[in-house]
Amino acid sequence: MEVNLLHTRIEYLKGVGTRRAELLHKELNVYTYQDMLNRFPFRYIDKSKIHKVSQVNDDMVYYQLIGTISDLKSIGAPRATRVTGRFTDDTGSIELVWFKGLKWIKTSFKPGVRYVLFGKASEFNHRYNFVHPEIEEYNPDDPLIGEGLQGVYLTTEKMKNNGLGTRQIAKMQKLILQQMFDIIPEVLPSSVIRQENLIARRYAYYQIHLPSNNIEIQQATRRLKFEEHFFLQLKLLRAKKRRENTVKSHVFGVVGDYFNRFYNDYLPFPLTNAQKRVIREIRRDLGSGHQMNRLLQGDVGSGKTIVALMVMLLALDNGFQACLMAPTEILATQHYATLKEQLKDMPVRLALLTGSTKTTERRVIHHGLKDGSLQILVGTHALIEKGVVFNNLGLAIIDEQHRFGVEQRAKFWEKTEVPPHTLVMTATPIPRTLAMTQYGELDVSKIDELPPGRKPVKTVHVYQDDRYRLMLFMKHQIELGRQVYVVYPLIKESEKTDMIALQEGYEALLRDFPEPQYRICVCHGQLKPEDKDFEMQRFIDRDAQIMVATTVIEVGVNVPNASVMIIENANRFGLSQLHQLRGRVGRGADQSYCILVTDHKMTDDGRIRMKTMCSTNDGFEIAEVDLELRGPGETGGTRQSGQVAMLIGDLQKDGELIQHTRAVASDLLDEDPYLIKPENRLLHEHYKELFAQTFDWSQIG
Ligand code: ADP
Ligand code: MG
Repeated sequence: MEVNLLHTRIEYLKGVGTRRAELLHKELNVYTYQDMLNRFPFRYIDKSKIHKVSQVNDDMVYYQLIGTISDLKSIGAPRATRVTGRFTDDTGSIELVWFKGLKWIKTSFKPGVRYVLFGKASEFNHRYNFVHPEIEEYNPDDPLIGEGLQGVYLTTEKMKNNGLGTRQIAKMQKLILQQMFDIIPEVLPSSVIRQENLIARRYAYYQIHLPSNNIEIQQATRRLKFEEHFFLQLKLLRAKKRRENTVKSHVFGVVGDYFNRFYNDYLPFPLTNAQKRVIREIRRDLGSGHQMNRLLQGDVGSGKTIVALMVMLLALDNGFQACLMAPTEILATQHYATLKEQLKDMPVRLALLTGSTKTTERRVIHHGLKDGSLQILVGTHALIEKGVVFNNLGLAIIDEQHRFGVEQRAKFWEKTEVPPHTLVMTATPIPRTLAMTQYGELDVSKIDELPPGRKPVKTVHVYQDDRYRLMLFMKHQIELGRQVYVVYPLIKESEKTDMIALQEGYEALLRDFPEPQYRICVCHGQLKPEDKDFEMQRFIDRDAQIMVATTVIEVGVNVPNASVMIIENANRFGLSQLHQLRGRVGRGADQSYCILVTDHKMTDDGRIRMKTMCSTNDGFEIAEVDLELRGPGETGGTRQSGQVAMLIGDLQKDGELIQHTRAVASDLLDEDPYLIKPENRLLHEHYKELFAQTFDWSQIG
């Protein structure tokens, strides 16, 4: 194995040392020269000019000055809260202010020494000052002063306080490039470089860090973005192709009695065209001999459950077992109840397995799974625990995928010798470009049509002061026989205050809606599972008209008679969560309402979220706005494992480039599926290096 000097540890770079190296590990995840080179500037500033103090006359503009520092004073007693000082050149002096790292500041600047200051001027009381400017000793031989454009790098306060500002980082980049320029390898095949008209990789690195003009920045950016998207697509496509080519699974060749009988005699409603199409798509996979790995997207209420049931019946028709896994106990229980109800007297043996299944019952289930007498198992995470062994699991369905990680999906793989077909169902709409990268290894089916007769939910935004009217509205709806959800945010970081808010809200409701005329149930994550289920059941049975809850009800609960969803402190929820919550109503034939309650104080983002919710019911539109507000990292509520973090590419904005690189990668794989041709040697090495540590997506089963 060749030694790759780009893997030299960053502490060996001149001027870094162990302490700064540690900061670089911690704050930027930089360990090697290579890592450092991959931290790109997020913008550039023109440092060709050196200004004079007398020229500082604009708020929020960057200036570069050369002068001396004096009059350092701590302000505030007994504990200093800030340090001020004066920066002086031959045209005047200007105030400097620091709020952090005060000790260090007070002892670091020597009188009479000339410093270079770089920073944004801010106006305060009609005077200008610099808050936390970058400062370093002036060295007339400093290569960075007077050179055209300088990159601005991500740094943290901690780094700045330890002499690791953006300027220092720029210097480190320059040092690394001076030493390593010649050995930066090309990793794209020359045919691709030619065809795409890209600059060589080493020039791209040089120009992105040390550009002399804007054209160089553009060329470098284009090249590096292309490369990053290209390798990602290569990886996703390889995983997909490998699965298609090599992962054999059971052939579900027959449509038999279970499916037909259900379809002809038990189907509770005609399927929508979208449901029919999706079932066809799934059937094609199941008959192909290759393992199905399909994502079923469908907005809340679009009717995914019946699709799941019918696909499971196909498994049964072909002599296999099937399972359906849900993220919460309530949901699993509800799925189980729905399936039982829809199957009526059909001779299907199914069971429910959750964390609270009793040991004796559990034993019976384990037994039935092993000898094959149990055909369908519904449950929670309990399904993927060690003791659960299937006789012949042919199909695994996972509901509400965003709650499960990739690793959990992979566990089904271990349950049987031949990997089962897998269907992942999600109500979280995923914008197209994201779908291509996050789920690039899955095939996608969509239910893009709601069952007929649904009235779109009416959404309004009201303020806290409107509570009285809100109460009257609730009473009116309850009189009409409807039920109402009242949901409170529960955020981990402020769990205590959130619980208090819920408790107070609950007590206020008890006063406004006294028993025995009204009954209110409460449901939150701190209840024991059996208590949660009990409360939930009261609502399902219409024993309670109002349910006060935290987001435990977010996912999948189905109470068609509920027609009002009141979301308290709605501005604290993300858009996708709000949309999920709204999906709990509008499931029956009645007009339903979603009421977003906030106080008048709100962030701009919060206002946009409220407005978006009031203006559209379309999950995809909402997902697009969500993506814009939050960026790709957080879509879907919780961070998923397997999330793609990009260095320079932008999953949100590079849609066209993503599609293009996918096509180029696909062509390359057609020519050289195993990347073994000599012209792809460096590409393959780089590929292996890039993805050595990440989870193997082809193992998702
Ligand atoms: P989700 O996709 O959110 O899981 P569900 O499967 O829970 O949606 O379905 C929502 C509601 O719509 C259920 O009450 C279900 O019985 C009903 N439903 C599903 N498909 C149809 C259909 N084709 N026609 C009428 N109602 C349907
Ligand atoms: Mg559902």
